[in-house]
Amino acid sequence: MATSTVSETVLAEEVEKRRNFAIISHPDAGKTTLTEKLLLYGGAIHEAGAVKARRAQRHATSDWMEMEQQRGISITSTVLQFDYRDVRINLLDTPGHQDFSEDTYRTLAAADNAVMLEDAAKGLEPQTRKLFEVCRMRSLPIFTFFNKMDRPAREPLELLDEIEQELGLATYAVNWPIGMGEQFRGVFDRRKRQFHLFERTAHGSKAAGKTVLDLGDPRIEDLVDQDLYYQFKEELEMIEELGAELDLAAIHAGQLSPVFFGSAMTNFGVQLFLDAFLDYALKPAPRNSTQGEIEPTAEDFSGFVFKLQANMDPKHRDRVAFIRVCSGKFEKDMVVNHARSGKNVRLSHPQKLFAQGRESLEEAYPGDVIGLNNPGVFAIGDTIYQGQKLEYEGIPCFSPELFAYLKNPNPSKFKQFHKGVTELREEGAVQIMFSADESKRDPILAAVGQLQFEVVQFRLQNEYNVETRLEPLPYSVARWVEGGWEALDKAGRLFNTTTVKDSWGRPVLLFRNEWNVGQVEGDHPGLKLRKTAPVV
Ligand code: GDP
Repeated sequence: MATSTVSETVLAEEVEKRRNFAIISHPDAGKTTLTEKLLLYGGAIHEAGAVKARRAQRHATSDWMEMEQQRGISITSTVLQFDYRDVRINLLDTPGHQDFSEDTYRTLAAADNAVMLEDAAKGLEPQTRKLFEVCRMRSLPIFTFFNKMDRPAREPLELLDEIEQELGLATYAVNWPIGMGEQFRGVFDRRKRQFHLFERTAHGSKAAGKTVLDLGDPRIEDLVDQDLYYQFKEELEMIEELGAELDLAAIHAGQLSPVFFGSAMTNFGVQLFLDAFLDYALKPAPRNSTQGEIEPTAEDFSGFVFKLQANMDPKHRDRVAFIRVCSGKFEKDMVVNHARSGKNVRLSHPQKLFAQGRESLEEAYPGDVIGLNNPGVFAIGDTIYQGQKLEYEGIPCFSPELFAYLKNPNPSKFKQFHKGVTELREEGAVQIMFSADESKRDPILAAVGQLQFEVVQFRLQNEYNVETRLEPLPYSVARWVEGGWEALDKAGRLFNTTTVKDSWGRPVLLFRNEWNVGQVEGDHPGLKLRKTAPVV
């Protein structure tokens, strides 16, 4: 029966020592900087340089496409793997702002934990809120890191309050700052009850200090300005008396967020964060499937595709499928079942997905991500497995915010146009909708980021030889109707919205803004609207 060569104990050990997370943040909060510092702790110093290089690359969309062409592999999504304290950490990189697309959301489907990175001067920002909603859908444990404490920031208590009030997420401050900006003196680590002091060097360049003092050490009063120290003590007393208790189960259920303050640029507070993260984060967890929950330590290998990345070079039209390993052991060249087609697939040419190019991979365990070059076989959400047949829960369609008719001005290219649009939709590059009015036959592209439109047009031109035109539509919100057409008919006439069909023929309402959604919901209490499509 058993096809895997891994012993139960080895598998359990490998799962035990894995942690996997994605960073959710708004552009400029410091994700690249934090990623770089985290990698340094893993000893992957050369990788850190790669992170910086990527930052320079992502500035213009056209650069991105050029890069894709030259490298022939994804640079918009990578998985950075590093070891720290004997733990293998997989950091699933979500693309930056110009690259914002459904891929960013889908990556969260493969993550076990999320780190919400905020600029302490700004607090919650739009992109972070959106990504948070996806984490919430999956009940992911969320760690919060307030960055840039070396710069003027908002009051820490106010920042925590914002998370509690606006996201409905309880917080537990693992460390607490002393001052901020010019007055930033460091943090108090509640785990070890120690001060970690932040020092600036004489020449104004900033570096993380190494002074650590125990609580009660009288030297603290010499090193920290009295007013600041008293303010700190008052705040600490307050959070210790009134704040939530540290509750691992609540963290794992995504209801309580451990909070950290620091400065990624000066590498201050990063190690404190990483140490606590390893202790509190969720290990690769069981996943829901058609066979019930599958334990990561189940002997048979299984995994699912959460993202496809097309090779932009028309000469090599292969696709890299990103697969999250969910159970058992992955081995190079193993033959697995492909649940959707029922076919056998050999998993050859697996790749480790580092920022720097391709590296061949021999084995992988639950929590890891592998890249496979399998042209045409895989679609988003596909399950592969050995042993008993199973399928993991699909990845939902996320609520698009940008809509445009895609026009093909050249009727003789109809066939290529249709083929291209169908294939790009199947691959998950963009969502396609159609007007409910049969006389309007142009497909409507529905995306979460502008980049998706550009990629679709670029690829239709390059791979299918069709030049297209976009005609933007004035909507910014989509809602799926629970109960489908029947429920919609029952609701009667709706105002301030347009009805379209998604790729499965289900009704979707498009609105100009959230306010209009509220109006329709108010006028039709029986109508239930959903932000994401039901999983198919
Ligand atoms: P990303 O867009 O989230 O990847 O943000 P980056 O890592 O590129 O950082 C955006 C800007 O903020 C850069 O100029 C960084 O040098 C700066 N930055 C990042 N972390 C800190 C910090 O802790 N303190 C200060 N003062 N600047 C920071």
